[in-house]
Formats: sequence, C-alpha cells, structure tokens
Amino acid sequence: MYTPLFGPARNAIAPAACYKGSRDVSMARLVMKFGGTSVADLDRIRNVARHVKREWDAGYDVAVVVSAMAGTTNQLVEWCRQAAMLHDTREYDAVVATGEEITAGLLAIVLEGMGVEARSWQGWQLPILTDNAHGSARILEVNGEELIKRFRERKQVAVIAGFQGLHKESGRITTLGRGGSDTSAVAVAAAIKAERCDIYTDVDGVYSTDPRVVPQARRMDKIAYEEMLELASLGAKVMQVRSVELGMMHNVPIFVRSSFEKPEDIDPKKPPSGTLICDESEIMEQQVVTGIAFSKDEAQISIRRVQAKPGVAAAIFGPLADAGINVDMIVQNVSGDGATTDLTFTVPSADYERARVTLDKAKRAIGFERLDGATDVAKVSVIGIGMRSHAGVAAQAFKALSEHQINILAITTSEIKFSVLIKAAQTDLAVRTLHTLYGLDRA
Ligand code: ASP
Ligand code: MG
Repeated sequence: MYTPLFGPARNAIAPAACYKGSRDVSMARLVMKFGGTSVADLDRIRNVARHVKREWDAGYDVAVVVSAMAGTTNQLVEWCRQAAMLHDTREYDAVVATGEEITAGLLAIVLEGMGVEARSWQGWQLPILTDNAHGSARILEVNGEELIKRFRERKQVAVIAGFQGLHKESGRITTLGRGGSDTSAVAVAAAIKAERCDIYTDVDGVYSTDPRVVPQARRMDKIAYEEMLELASLGAKVMQVRSVELGMMHNVPIFVRSSFEKPEDIDPKKPPSGTLICDESEIMEQQVVTGIAFSKDEAQISIRRVQAKPGVAAAIFGPLADAGINVDMIVQNVSGDGATTDLTFTVPSADYERARVTLDKAKRAIGFERLDGATDVAKVSVIGIGMRSHAGVAAQAFKALSEHQINILAITTSEIKFSVLIKAAQTDLAVRTLHTLYGLDRA
C-alpha cells in the first residue's frame, strides 16, 4: 500500500481502532526528534513547540523525543569525571540521564501553554528497556501502548526524554551512548508504528560530504539505510549509527531536516527540504557513489617482523578485543621468506596508547620485532550501493589520488564502500579530489 510520506495518511486507519468503538479514529503517527542545539534555550524550545503544534494541527498523533539542552550532557559527563576519574557507570548513567529530563518537562510545559495537551515521559516510564551495558546500552524493547492509548483518548502529545532507558533486571537507569537520542526516536517510531521519524537538527539534511571541506557538497534527497550506516560509521556525524541500524531493521523512514526553519514558513502542501533515509528500492536514480566520509580520529599501528605462523592474528587481535578496542583496517602481507611478515591496522586515536600498551604486554606471546605507530593519519571512505554492480570504481580513485601526490598507506574494501588511509594533512585535498571525480559537486 502506498503511504504518503508527507501529510497524515488518513487512509491508513488501523481497522482494529474502528472496531473498538472508539470515537476518535486512529490517525497517522509521527515521531519528531530535536537535538541539543534545537532546544538550547527556552526560545528555541518555544520554536520546537510550534513545529510540534504544526504537525498536531495537521492531524498527526505526535511523539516528540528530545535531547538535553546543548552543552548539558558534556557538563554532566565532566562532573562525573571530576568527582572521580574511575566511577561506577551505573552512577554515571544516573547523572547524565538527567539532561533530557529537563528538556522533556520544559517542552511539555510550553506545549500546554499553547493549548496542546502534552505529557513528558522518562525512559523508565514507558518503559524503554535496555541491556545493562551502562553508558552505551542497547534498546531491547519499547512499550508504546500507553502513548497510543493517550493519542486515541485525548490526542495527547508525548514528550519523551531521549538517550535513556531502563535495565529490565536491575531496574536501574541506563543511557544509550553519546548521540543516543536519535536511537530513542527511531525505537519509539518503530514501537508506535509511526509513518515517519523526523530528525530535526542544525543541518538541513545529509550531504554528499562535509560542506565545510567541500563547499560544492550537495544535499541528498534520499539515501539508502545501508549507505547512511556506512557514512555514519565512517565519520559523518549526522546520526548515531545504531539509530540507522534500527531504522533499517524496522523499515522506519527517517527524515533529516532543519529545526531552524521557522514553523510558520513551512508550506504544508510542499514537501519540506531534507534527506529521507529509506530502503534502497525507493531510490529511483541510484548513483554509483553517493557520499564521501572521512575521519581524522585514526591511528595506525604496524607490527614489524611478526612470525608468519598460525595463531598469530588471534594472539594480536584477541587481547585488543578483550580491551574493548575496535580494530578497523587490517593489512597483512604474505611473507616473502616464509618466516616473518608485517601487519598494519588502525584503531581510533583515543585508543592508540591503550592499544600499544596492550600489545607490548602480549609481545612474548605474539612474537614480533617492534611496533611502529602514527596518529597523523586519516581514513577517507567512498560509499555507494552502485559499487555492487560497477567495477573499477576504486581504481579511478587510486589514479586521481596519485595525480595529487597523495600516498595511500592502506586500503580496505567491502561491497558498497572502500577506504584509504592517508596522511592527515592531505585529508581535505583527498576528499575534494574524490568528490569531483565521482561527479558529486553541485553544479
Ligand atoms: N544528550 C546526549 C548527548 O549529548 C544524547 C543526545 O543528544 O542524543 O550525547
Ligand atoms: Mg546528535
């Protein structure tokens, strides 16, 4: 069935609602998520409330998910750190979860003042159940029943504190990791079967690359979940990776749009500007390359003259995994003399020192001559679903980079992306070169 993406789908009435004899017919549901800069002060919260009222007036049942006011979470994290460098993550969660609670309450108050019935909800009240990985918990289950009941009975807007949940067994508050309100929003959208999850943020959509590096970057109308997942994982900071994962799993259309557009300037009859993250089957004109991501927060570690024998990779990457260090690009040569080889990989630069210490401790078990490392490296990645069916996409890049004297330190590829490791100082040049090469520059 065709569900219009903009404007409530009045034809999508759930039959069950009619049979229950409720007076109100069940309307289309919408999740609206607002990030920290969009709720930074009371004026902006009022602006948010007007966006909410606009959709509510149009007939939507609305669940709003809010972040903490800009800077608040950082402050809370900092206080925990100052209280004790090593602290119990359960208490960290008790502290940092409070930022969102303030925004949720304030927005509900403002909405009520505008004549829109609203109620705030904390994670435990729905509840949003998570595992017990405090500080970066995963959502297991969201109960949206009470919200739906109140939509039906009173057309009440739900204002939900993002970023937080409840661990089922311990009954303690958890948080979902930095940027986690995106994930809260998509999870709520899946739970209440919202027709769309709108992510209101300080940019007006997803760009082919960072416009600060490439002014000709273009905003995409649509991008496939998988591509967005790669973009987000590889350095684009628009959305938390897990939120895209969840959207893909539950097929929730996610629309990234600007919260700074004035609510009264939006013409309800015109599709708003922004980027829709959706299933690839909904994208008609698929390009070979859709985006270029980069990350300067990378460090390279090379293990020299490591023994070429079974079990060595396990001896290296086992301890790193145990230390919770994410290893990314791995390059190993086939040994020339059959005795030793070199092995290079990357880790997030924040984990660089820890990785070196971990490997030094395991030196005897692994057996190698020395460790070389560098933190002045960057990873540039080219992403596009079209790569599945086009050959030679990466080869073009290698040629173009070499023409600009950019040396490639390591390469990795997968079905829909490839990444190169280069010197950090050449990042901008590399990104611009590739952006032009694949025809992504705005005319
Ligand atoms: N307030 C939290 C953070 O800053 C969660 C979020 O904004 O999404 O990470
Ligand atoms: Mg965010």
